[in-house]
Amino acid sequence: MQARNVHKSFDQLEVLKGIDLDVAPGEVVVILGPSGSGKSTFLRCINHLEAIQKGFIEVDGEQIGYRVKNDKLQKLTPNGIARQRRKIGMVFQQFNLYPHMTVLQNIIEAPVGVHGESRRDAIENARQLLKRVGLSEKENSYPRQLSGGQQQRVAIARALAIKPKLMLFDEPTSALDPELVGEVLATMKDLAKQGLTMIVVTHEIGFAKEAADRVVFMDGGVVVEQGRPEDVIGNPQHPRTQAFLARFL
Ligand code: ADP
Ligand code: MG
Repeated sequence: MQARNVHKSFDQLEVLKGIDLDVAPGEVVVILGPSGSGKSTFLRCINHLEAIQKGFIEVDGEQIGYRVKNDKLQKLTPNGIARQRRKIGMVFQQFNLYPHMTVLQNIIEAPVGVHGESRRDAIENARQLLKRVGLSEKENSYPRQLSGGQQQRVAIARALAIKPKLMLFDEPTSALDPELVGEVLATMKDLAKQGLTMIVVTHEIGFAKEAADRVVFMDGGVVVEQGRPEDVIGNPQHPRTQAFLARFL
């Protein structure tokens, strides 16, 4: 993923003021930053949920929202956008599982319903994913029968079911009871070890220290500081990073 000079405003409010960020394949990047600094907006721009007004974002070598034709950039049609979205999995604070579908049905919905994968392949893949997130025995349960932590692990499996090149996590543990946070972070650590490319917005400093290859500190719509977790968290250089991290001591 490559973001260059990304600008995004809502009417008069400039939320992203020139974000530059590179994420290499297999890299795990944690974005830290105060509330309102534009973290969610940035992830939403990467996943086509918001259009940017300046700069560009590239995922897997393709510019988000555009394609190159005859050396010119052309805006994508809805079909083109759907194809690009297929490369990106996203997990939100609210798990948003379909309540009337079982766990297995939730996971195969996008591969079968949207991407035309055969039901048999999708089910086989879903069962492997459920194993990966430790919920094999829950495939026939409904979301309401699961704890918040289990629902979020299903949401992670569902996002992985489209075999994305890039996974985005937006405060995936913020809505969970404290005792359920650990199981979701453990699942995410596993994925990080397995070489998945991940951008994770979180306030879990411990996760950032353990699982991140790089930590990015955002404030006021810009990247203020970034580097290895031991540097940015252990020895922040910028006063805004220092002030933010002081809350977690
Ligand atoms: P963060 O995730 O870092 O807390 P957000 O990206 O959610 O920050 O929000 C950054 C700023 O953009 C906030 O001031 C927020 O109110 C504003 N914002 C986000 N989405 C919208 C929107 N759809 N319309 C107007 N303002 C928005
Ligand atoms: Mg947010």
